Amino acid sequence: MVGSKEKRDKRLQEISLLRTIPYSDHQRWWTSETVAVVTGANRGIGFEMVRQLAGHGLTVILTSRDENVGVEAAKILQEGGFNVDFHRLDILDPSSIQDFCKWIQEKYGFFDVLINNAGVNYNVGTGNSVEFSQMVLSTNYYGTKNIINAMIPLMRRASQGARIVNVTSRLGRLKGRHSKLENETVRAKLMDVDSLTEEIVDETVSEFLKQVEEGTWESGGWPHSFTDYSVSKMAVNAYTRVLAKELSERPEGEKIYANCFCPGWVKTAMTGYAGNVSAEDGADTGVWLALLPDQAITGKFFAERREISF
Ligand code: NDP
Repeated sequence: MVGSKEKRDKRLQEISLLRTIPYSDHQRWWTSETVAVVTGANRGIGFEMVRQLAGHGLTVILTSRDENVGVEAAKILQEGGFNVDFHRLDILDPSSIQDFCKWIQEKYGFFDVLINNAGVNYNVGTGNSVEFSQMVLSTNYYGTKNIINAMIPLMRRASQGARIVNVTSRLGRLKGRHSKLENETVRAKLMDVDSLTEEIVDETVSEFLKQVEEGTWESGGWPHSFTDYSVSKMAVNAYTRVLAKELSERPEGEKIYANCFCPGWVKTAMTGYAGNVSAEDGADTGVWLALLPDQAITGKFFAERREISF
């Protein structure tokens, strides 16, 4: 235990050291005209990402499915002098997505950074109900895909490239300490990036939901803690790789880089404030990824500003 505490303290020291390294002028590809959009940003990690991106001088659109709550959240940052705008966005509602896209187009024309942060989880502590699987997969996976598909045409074509950052979780890993996936067929399919397609990810999600409906999911080899949430993040991770592959075919000057990251176990409403990382620290890697000057990075998974394996 002592060893792991020391390791964690050392890690946290390294992170704060990295955070203190300022972005130098030649790395700063963005200006106050650079527009970032963050979903589910009325609280938690999303709100922090808005604050930090606006702190770096971008124009940031804070979005929230609840208009009043979102307006209040944006007001806090606006009163603090940050360049933050607000618009309602429910990633489960096609008409809300359409309204949002129309508004962005009319008000800003284009935007540069999309952070897919909105998400739900219905398991707290050691709970592992799959009662809300449909909602979890619809929001975390299909909602994220829907917003990406709707917004890609509005992403600015610029030499530095536009960026998509998906907030996922180590719980969705296919291998390693945090992976509880026992289904070798699913692992093999999702690991093989060369043959991975959106259809394969969709089929995997459908198979899981079918087993939940039939009551057979427990013998399906799916992750056995936070099962539906872990499957949703596994799907977003795999989709990020497919998306990055597709987007890499865009011509120079129209590139979009897509990556995902795990914020750690964060003290937010989602964990019942039981995490070991503050929302500020949880947001850090996402903001860093969104602002990376190195354009070659795409289709990767990060945690604490380091690449990790899927
Ligand atoms: P919160 O519950 O505090 O924030 C989740 C946000 O998503 C809320 O703003 C919520 O809105 C919003 N949201 C949910 N459904 C929708 C929807 N249909 N449309 C738009 N917004 C929606 O949790 P966190 O800040 O912890 O989570 C942020 C992201 O980080 C999530 O994707 C989560 O899975 C991920 N994550 C979190 C970890 C943690 O330890 N906290 C660990 C790993 C990943 P509302 O307030 O209206 O409910």
